[in-house]
Amino acid sequence: MRVSSTANALLLAEWDRCRWVWNECVARSRAVCAHNRAHPEDKQTCGPVPLSAMLTEARARIPWLREGASVPQQQLIRDFGRSRAKAMKDIQARLPMQHRAGMPKWKKKRDAAPTFEYTRRGFRLKDGRLHLAGGIVLRVVWSRDLPSAPSSVRVYQDSLGHWYAGFVVPAQTRPLPETGAVIGVDWGVTETATTTSDAHDLPHAQHGKNAAQRLAKYQRMMSRRKPGRGQAASAGYREAKRQTAKVHKKVARQRQDTGRKWAKAVVRDHDAVAVEDFRPKFLAKSTMARKAADAAISMTKTALLEMARKHGRTVHLVHPAHTTMDCADCGARTKHALPLSERTYTCTACGVSRPRDKNSARVMLVRAGLRPG
Ligand SMILES: [Zn+2]
Repeated sequence: MRVSSTANALLLAEWDRCRWVWNECVARSRAVCAHNRAHPEDKQTCGPVPLSAMLTEARARIPWLREGASVPQQQLIRDFGRSRAKAMKDIQARLPMQHRAGMPKWKKKRDAAPTFEYTRRGFRLKDGRLHLAGGIVLRVVWSRDLPSAPSSVRVYQDSLGHWYAGFVVPAQTRPLPETGAVIGVDWGVTETATTTSDAHDLPHAQHGKNAAQRLAKYQRMMSRRKPGRGQAASAGYREAKRQTAKVHKKVARQRQDTGRKWAKAVVRDHDAVAVEDFRPKFLAKSTMARKAADAAISMTKTALLEMARKHGRTVHLVHPAHTTMDCADCGARTKHALPLSERTYTCTACGVSRPRDKNSARVMLVRAGLRPG
């Protein structure tokens, strides 16, 4: 969006109020947790109902809060509720710490990027401009036409200070002609996707690698200029931080672009897709290369699922267990996982031999109940 300095100031003021609401929710939630620990016989809840009541009460009491629109403040309470519910669910499921969604934390002025959601009664579109509750008018640079009236809009600012609006519209399916073909997809590090079709393999685009050198440079600059505790960051530090964010953003965009183009080709040429249900863990101890590969896989998988839904194709998500150990032809399982250095899968039962990743891609098809071509 093109945001005038007036609108920018209004948005940031709205964000200050929303942050206050969020932080009140955090404080309330922590108080409830502490109370419930101390008085297990008198459990209190911290769901959307008491939090909404808290907002109503606070808006009546504090004129500054009331100056802001109520829609984004209410939506923020819903966001908080969802975020808290997810954390509670993970705690109850006794997930290991590193896999848990943490309890919602304070949003600090310095590092919480503004994000607001407006439901239908909080915004309207007129002459290509976005009017938000509270008299904020924004000029939208449309990436494409809206297919129908949006039910909500999310307005947010990225780490570079640019503002965006994302509109929610009903998904439309645009069916493609049937092809009679199916495809299996295996994810990996050197090849982001290996498929049962030689024309649809996707090598790992080295977007991250090319950016890594520049990232390292800016990160060195940042660590040299890191402000001490309680000290304001220097202009040099802020600039290095901005450049780092810029590089990250560029890499993400390139990944998304590559992923979408590949997904489009896969979906256009096949009626059904069997794909490994890969879930990256982003563990702290994994290498930069592994992290980059995982990020590329996540992005590509998302692009594939979205593209398939958009064009009415069937997707089978296949559990990744043992997909590298099974023979796609006879179903025999090797006793031990193949070492990563072993690039060829040779079946001791039926004697078939093919590249390891191609075998896995074929296993996806078999597991999904699709017949390899
Ligand atoms: Zn076999």
